[in-house]
Amino acid sequence: MSFELAGIGASPGIAIGPALVLEPATLDIPEYRIEAAAVETESARLRAALATARDELLLVRDAIPGDAPQETRLFIDAHLLMLDDPALRERPLRAIREEGRNAAWAIHHERERLLEIFDRMEDAYLRAKREDIIQVTGRVLRHLLGGKPPSAHAGEGHIIVAEDLSPADTVLMKRDRVLACVTDFGGSTSHTAIIARSLGLPAVVGTHLGTRLLRSGDTVIVDGDQGILLVDPDAAMLREYQALQKRRQRRRRLLEELRDLPATTVDGTRVRLRANIELPDDRGFVHRVNAEGVGLYRSEFLFMNRPEAPDEEEQFNAFAEVVSAMRGEPVTIRSLDIGADKSLRSEGMEENTAVNPALGLRGLRLCLRRPEWFRPHLRAILRASALGPVCLMLPMLTSMGELRQAKALVRALQDELCAAGLPFDPQMPLGIMVEVPAVAMAAAHFAREADFFSIGTNDLIQYALAVDRGDDDVNDLFDPLHAGVLAMIHNTIAAGHAAGIPVAMCGEMAGNPAYTELLLGLGLREFSMYPGAIPEVKEIIRRTRIDRAEALAQALLAGDRRALEARRED
Ligand code: PEP
Ligand code: MG
Repeated sequence: MSFELAGIGASPGIAIGPALVLEPATLDIPEYRIEAAAVETESARLRAALATARDELLLVRDAIPGDAPQETRLFIDAHLLMLDDPALRERPLRAIREEGRNAAWAIHHERERLLEIFDRMEDAYLRAKREDIIQVTGRVLRHLLGGKPPSAHAGEGHIIVAEDLSPADTVLMKRDRVLACVTDFGGSTSHTAIIARSLGLPAVVGTHLGTRLLRSGDTVIVDGDQGILLVDPDAAMLREYQALQKRRQRRRRLLEELRDLPATTVDGTRVRLRANIELPDDRGFVHRVNAEGVGLYRSEFLFMNRPEAPDEEEQFNAFAEVVSAMRGEPVTIRSLDIGADKSLRSEGMEENTAVNPALGLRGLRLCLRRPEWFRPHLRAILRASALGPVCLMLPMLTSMGELRQAKALVRALQDELCAAGLPFDPQMPLGIMVEVPAVAMAAAHFAREADFFSIGTNDLIQYALAVDRGDDDVNDLFDPLHAGVLAMIHNTIAAGHAAGIPVAMCGEMAGNPAYTELLLGLGLREFSMYPGAIPEVKEIIRRTRIDRAEALAQALLAGDRRALEARRED
C-alpha cells in the first residue's frame, strides 16, 4: 500500500530505492549483579568496548573523503575527545567494582546521569551536546551487547531508515554509496543534517514514525527538498520522480557550465559572489565554484574542539594559508565570534554562563573585555594582511564606542608591529557585521566610521523578530521576508551606498536562491554564502533584470508577499 510520510527536508535531492531499516539504537539494557570474582573480567569488557569504539571512530575518520568539509572531521574529533574523557569511564568502572553492576548497565546509567545534567542547561550549544553523548555511549553499548553499528549494515544502493544517525555514521553511508538517509529524530540544524548537506546525500529527518512504519525492502522515494517520503509508490508516482531526478541531474551539469561566467544581470549589473568558510581546508571549495574570494571567514572555528587556544603564530599560519591560496582575491576575516551557541572548551576561554547568552557577552563584546585573547588574534590578522588583500570584520557590534575602541586597538597593534619590523597592510579595511537591529536602523551613522558593512541575517532576523535561531519550536516564525526585516536590510544597503562603502550580506539568506532577486532589488551587489550555493544563485542573477527586481522589492517592503509567489510562477 502506498503512503506518504512527512518530515523535515534536511538535505536536498531525490533518491529512489529499497529501504534498509536499522535496529533501534535504544537497545534493551540488561541489569544484573556480578560476583566479586567477575569484577576484573567485567571491567576489562568495558575497557575493551571503549577501545573498540575508539578504533571504529579512527577508521571512520580515515574514511572521510578528502574533499569533505573540515566540519566533518571536527564532529568525529569531538566524539573521540568524549570517549577519551576519563569521566566517561571512571564512574562506570567504579559501579562495576564497588556495586557489582554489569558493564552495560553502568555505562547506560552514566549516560542517563549526563543527559539529566545537560537537560538542565540553558546554553543551546551545550544542550545540543546531548546528541553527542547519546551517539558515543550508544556506540560503546552496541559493542558491549554484541550489536553492530548502523554503518556495518549500511547497504550499497539502499535508503537507510534509522531512529537517529551520528555524523560519523553519516560519513560512512556516503562512502558505502547509500542513496539517502531518513531518521525519526533530528532537526535541520543537527550535526547529521549538516554533514548530509555537505556530502550531497539527500536526507529527511524528524519523521517520528519512519522506523516503525517502514520495513526493509519497501521501495521508497526520498524527497529531500520537500521533506517527504513516499513508500511503495505506484507506477505513476515512480515515473514522475524518475523524471524529476533526471531534470535535477541535467540542471547540475548546466550549473557547472556557469563556473567561469561572471555573475552579471541581464542589464549588465555586476554582482560579487564570495564564499563563507570555517577553516583553511575549505579553500578548495572556494576554487571549485570560482568564488571571488572569501566574504566571511568564521575564525572562531579555529578555536573549537581543542584543549588549548591557538597562539598568534598558529592563527597567523591559518589565515596566511587562506590569503595566499586566494591569489589576490579578498579574504574577509571575521574576528572571533564566540559566545551564545558557539562556545569554546579551550583552556582559559570557557564561555560565559549568562542566563541569556545570545544577549550577553558574545562576539566583539567579549573580545573587548579579554584583550589577552583579542590582541594576538588581531595581530595575526594584521600580519596576514601583508600577504594579500584582507578585510577585518567585527561581529555583534552594537555601539559606535565599540567600533572606536576596536579601531584604537588595531592602531596600537599596527604601531607594535611596525616597531617589531613585522609587515602588514596599513590600508586594511575595517568593517562591521550588521546583525544588531539598532545598528541596521542607524546604518547611516555607522557608515561614517566603518569601511564596509556585511549583513548577518542569521542574527539580524533572530534579534529583530525575537526568535531563537536554534530553536525548532519557533522555526516557523524565523521569517526573512518579514517587512520589518526587509526594511532593515534595505536601510543598511542604502545607507552604506550613500556613504560610498561596500555592503555585503553573509547570512544564510544570501545563499538562498529564493531570495536572490529580492536582494538584488533591495540594492545588494555583494553576496557571501556556503560555496555549494554559488552556482544556483549565479544562475538566477544572470536571469534577473534590475528594474523588475526593484519592483519586487518594493512590493515586499510594503508587505505584499504574494509578489514573490507571482514571480516564481512567471
Ligand atoms: C549571521 O549572523 O548572519 C552570520 C553570518 O554569522 P553567524 O551565523 O556565524 O552568527
Ligand atoms: Mg552572526
